[in-house]
Order: sequence, then C-alpha cells, then structure tokens
Amino acid sequence: MKNILLAISCLLFINTIAQKNNDAAKFATTITQQDLKQQLSIIASAEMEGRETATEGQRKAAAYIEEQFKRLGLTPGNNNSYQQIFNVYQDELTSATLSLYKSSFAFNKHFTVSLNNTAQGSFQINEIIFASFGIDNKERNDYNNLDVKGKWVLLIESNPTDIDKGNTTSPSRNSSFLKIRTAMQKEVAGIIVISKSFDNKQPTTTSSMGLMYMKKPTETNQPIPIITVSYQAAASILTKTLNNYTDLQNIATGKYATNIFLTINKQTHTLQSSNVIGIIEGTDKKDEYVILTAHYDHLGKRGNDIYYGADDDGSGTVTIIEMAEAFAQAKKKGKGPRRTIICMTVSGEEKGLWGSDYYTQHPIYPLNKTTVNLNTDMIGRIDPSYKGDSLNYVYVIGEDKLSSDLLPISDSINQHFKLELDRRYNDPKDPNRFYYRSDHFNFAKNGVPVIFYFNGVHKDYHKPTDTIDKINFDVMEKRARFIFTTAWVMANRENMLKRDIPLNMPPRR
Ligand SMILES: [Zn+2]
Repeated sequence: MKNILLAISCLLFINTIAQKNNDAAKFATTITQQDLKQQLSIIASAEMEGRETATEGQRKAAAYIEEQFKRLGLTPGNNNSYQQIFNVYQDELTSATLSLYKSSFAFNKHFTVSLNNTAQGSFQINEIIFASFGIDNKERNDYNNLDVKGKWVLLIESNPTDIDKGNTTSPSRNSSFLKIRTAMQKEVAGIIVISKSFDNKQPTTTSSMGLMYMKKPTETNQPIPIITVSYQAAASILTKTLNNYTDLQNIATGKYATNIFLTINKQTHTLQSSNVIGIIEGTDKKDEYVILTAHYDHLGKRGNDIYYGADDDGSGTVTIIEMAEAFAQAKKKGKGPRRTIICMTVSGEEKGLWGSDYYTQHPIYPLNKTTVNLNTDMIGRIDPSYKGDSLNYVYVIGEDKLSSDLLPISDSINQHFKLELDRRYNDPKDPNRFYYRSDHFNFAKNGVPVIFYFNGVHKDYHKPTDTIDKINFDVMEKRARFIFTTAWVMANRENMLKRDIPLNMPPRR
C-alpha cells in the first residue's frame, strides 16, 4: 500500500515535471524568427546611429526598449523607472602649450595632448630620460641602467621592427598603449611620446574631446601628463640633429638636461547613460532572481559610417525583448515563473563593461539572491571557422565555474534542442579571453553563476558591415529558445543554483 502510494506520487511528480517542460517548450515557440527580425530591424537601424554610450543613438535605443518592456506588461525594474542611470565623463582639451627655452611648438604640428587619462596643470621639466623604444620585455630592455622613477621620459612610438617602414605604417594604438603602461608601472612623472604621424597634419586649434571614461580618478589613482611630439621637436629637446624619424633609433638612452614648459587645461563634461530594466515578478519565490542580460550599446558613428551592431549586440538585445514577451505571456496564462525574471539591457559594454559594472556595484536586487545571470552577446551569426554543424551550434562559456549545477542543466535541456553546445572558449586562459569580454564577467566576479552565449567572431565584427542582412534568423531562433528554456528551468526549479565552486581565475587585465 505504502509502496503503491509512493509509486503513484512519483508518477504525479514526473507528470508535473513533464508538464512544466511542455509549458517551457510551448512558450519558447512564441520566440520566432519573424519577431526577432522585426525587432532587430529597429534596434540595428540607421535611426539608432550605432547606439554609442551617452549619445543620442543610445538614448533612442533605451527609449525603444523601455517602450517594449511597457507594452509587454513588464514592471519597471528600478523602483518606478525602467532605467538605471549612471554617469560617464569626457574631457575636453581647452588649451595646451609646449615651449623649449621659451620658444613655442605649434599645437598639432609638433605636439599634441592625448586627453585619455592625462593630468592637467603646468609642468616645468629640467631633465628628461630618453628611453629609446620604451620596451621592457624578455627580448629587450630599453630601461637598462635608467632611473626613471619620478622623472619625465621620452620614448619612440614605433617598434624597432617597424621604425623604418615609412610614414604610412603608423604604430598600432596597442603598442603605444603598452609602452605608456610600462612607463607608468615604473612610476614616471610624465611621458613624452615621439610620434611619426605628424607630417601630414595641419595645425589646428585645441578643443578636442577625449575618450569617455566611467571612474573619476581617485587621490591614489591620479593620472600623469602624457603628450606626443614630432621627431623635430624631439631633436630640439635632445639637442641632436635628425634627418628623419628613423634616426631616433641611433640616439643613446640616458639623462638629458632641458628646459621645457608645458601647460594642459581641460574641462570635464558629465554625461549620462543607462541600463534598461523590466521585471516579471515571480510567484512563490519572487524574492529570488534570474537576470537576463545583453548590451544594447555599440560603437556609434565615425564620420559617415554607422556601426549598426546587428549581431553585436542587437541580436542579444532583441533576444531579451522576445524572452521577456515569452515570460510575460506565460504569466498571463497563469504559468508565471516562480522566481522573478529581471530583463536588463545594459550600455557601456563596448567602453569596458560599464553598465554591468555599475549594476553589480549598485544592485537593485540582491546578488546573493540572484540565482544566475544568462548573458547573450552575439547569437545571430555563424563563425566561419566553425567545423561542426554551423547551423546548429552555440558557444557556451562559464558553465563549469561557480556552480556545479549549471552544466548538467544545460546538457539536460539540450537533449530536447540537440544544439552543439561548444565549450572551446570556456577556459579563461584561452588567448581570446572571451570569459572576460562581456557583461556576465561582472556578475561572475561578484559570485553569481553565469552562462555566456556567443556565436564567435566574424569578418564584420566591430565593423560598419555588421548589418541585419547578414543575420541568420534560423539559427538565432534556436539559440534564443534554448536560452529561454534554460532561464525557465532555473526560474522554476526548487532550489537556487548552489555556489559550490570557488571563483578561481586570473584577474581581467
Ligand atoms: Zn558585444
């Protein structure tokens, strides 16, 4: 008798699980190629101007997403507002002068100031250390025998391998960034970079804008002055005769007496950006959360080129809208999620994961009650190098970290979907470092288990050609339904995901 009852209750239990999974499957089918395409035709349209953070295009996109959340019946996610506003900053150069023994160099002809993370003020420089190429690595150390701490350094922007390749080869931004970082690690007072790219420039006035940044410098993290000069200016500073930029490599490193006076004045503008948040309140576990994220910002416009960002991350943004719709419909039919679903599209991602950083620093819903973050960044395209069934795969990243529940849940849901869940990029030590490169990272860093869904890169990645006509809505629909079903299972299971794996990974560089 007892056993029979147990058998019957087991059967009932299995039936309810099957029923719930049927429900998930039923509402997943409300996510359709047609809807995804229709939404993306707006998000990735010219009218959204590439959605750069803290610009008009981003605000238009935010307003559109907010309107969709409202239309679908989502509750505002930030008290009475659908937006969580955060400040970003941008410096404008208002004036700059550089003189040597009282004779001035022309701005933009012989010197310029990079506004990014540069200190302002007046600087008298009586001694400068020439550090040649400014390289300090395994193969080469230009800082050998140089004491640069607290001193001004002068260094060549190019690398020894490309210095004589003519003026058309400008050194990569990355290489000067590395050199500046190397010098800063040596606690120099200021940096003068000798650039080869002055020749074709016409002198212009100041009043240029630097890159946006999110965190104001603190007292312990003060920027140092960094300027760029022409090789002719460098020759005067070093009192050497140089016929061209290439001659710089023959100058000995070391200390040079000088008499430089530099002024930099800038004005900091405060701008605003936002995360757009709507929620579907849970039933018996409404104080626990599943957070679905995608970034709605992209690279904006450069000149006449619009960076449409259809895949990056228009695809994720519209997937959030469609998942919101599926959960909202389920709720209307009495099948609402047990846990609260937070639908959040963030901005500032392309600038450095700012929106998710801001949210995890100022969480509206407690992170220790947030069972999982499912982050979708680029799921509308196919990686041309993909070797398997290219119309039926998704890269999944992060599942083996923080919670041992994640991976078995993905695999069991996938028994129905039969996607190729490709985990090749899962290792944080993978040279591409995808684990660090989207918004889930800020949640993982704060202990929230994450899964990141991604299609890999392609030739239109971060180009104006990332447009809607190249999206494969068939594979995107499969991926979106799979992510929705995963969210459904995680929102409805009895327990929150256990957090049984300590976060153990190298920090983000
Ligand atoms: Zn992206």
